[in-house]
Amino acid sequence: MAHYNISVIPGDGIGPEVMDSALAVLGESEKHFDLQLSYTTYDFSADLYRRTGRKITEADMDVIGATDAVLFGAMGLPDVRDPEGLELGAQVEMRAHYKLFASLRPVKLFQGVESAVKAHNVDMLVIRETSEGMFAGLHDSHEPSDEQATDRMTITRATSEKLFDLAFSEARARRRRGTPGRVTLLHKSNALRSNVLMEKVFDEVAARNTDIESSKYYIDAGSMYMVTDPERFDVIVSENIFGDITSEIAAGLVGGLGVAPSADVSLSHGVFQPSHGSAPDIAGTGQANPIAMILSAAMMLGWLGEQRGDETCRQAARSINQAVEQVLATGPRTRDLGGNATTRQVTDAVLQALASTLPATTHSL
Ligand code: ATP
Repeated sequence: MAHYNISVIPGDGIGPEVMDSALAVLGESEKHFDLQLSYTTYDFSADLYRRTGRKITEADMDVIGATDAVLFGAMGLPDVRDPEGLELGAQVEMRAHYKLFASLRPVKLFQGVESAVKAHNVDMLVIRETSEGMFAGLHDSHEPSDEQATDRMTITRATSEKLFDLAFSEARARRRRGTPGRVTLLHKSNALRSNVLMEKVFDEVAARNTDIESSKYYIDAGSMYMVTDPERFDVIVSENIFGDITSEIAAGLVGGLGVAPSADVSLSHGVFQPSHGSAPDIAGTGQANPIAMILSAAMMLGWLGEQRGDETCRQAARSINQAVEQVLATGPRTRDLGGNATTRQVTDAVLQALASTLPATTHSL
């Protein structure tokens, strides 16, 4: 039986609430597939920092990084800031420590969910670069000033090549599942030197992957097409801040952050978390939509399946996606999707959909 060690960081706000849902769903999967998951839970959070001053360290991340994958809820509270005034979260630290260079954010319009635009077939993967771009200067030394502040955008050939290789291979994998197989770069090479290099490397990688269609738009025009004609996109790839914004526009097209999963990956590490934050405005009310976190857990299984060549993991991931699809089509749905169900009720429905569609398995020893 395949056995994986997973690090779990529930975090703040609705993070622990939706994490409970994802762990319940993974537990149900274990009953039906020849799969065993062991968890180590870490209580890193903005709340812990506020109470004790403790935040995640390099040594913590070494220990966590030795496990097979990280499942992450949400971290950060608006009133908890580090000495520089930035909101506290471990995502940025983990991206740097594990050299996670890409955030994969699949967005699909499910049956039963209303789109904010006139579109029926929205099914895209936004790939956001996460190690450089507009966030490259995050650790630059600077003199605090009330008169002027500077951020730095840097693009490197090495990261861009890895990023675009990943984009084309994801497009190829998606095409096997029926999508067109097209990669679109969103950039601003008419105004930013860094983006001239990014576009050049994109063209080179596209020329090595001619079986996959490629296209490019300036980020401003591309943002408009996202809203006016989202069906033209399959895989979108962009630098750090453009990708951050684009992925939230994409989430908005298909029902919002409550149904938008994500995976931050390098070639060896993966951190899986919903695209949403800790949503302090609804924490503790039982209204959080657990679907984004559940789909992130499914992405984790899919990624483990690809990394380890484990078909059982891939099947388990597919079955969770199907169960979610079924629940979104029929309800119950949480308030963000126009329903009035609680986090628990939606989770129970996903568990039931899984249990009723899958046979129990006899685990091998
Ligand atoms: P961050 O910067 O940490 O990503 P954010 O500022 O984008 O966070 P979120 O915490 O993601 O903010 O919340 C944005 C809005 O979306 C809030 O109104 C929140 O209640 C809502 N929201 C986020 N996640 C969910 C969810 N899972 N279910 C329902 N509503 C959600």
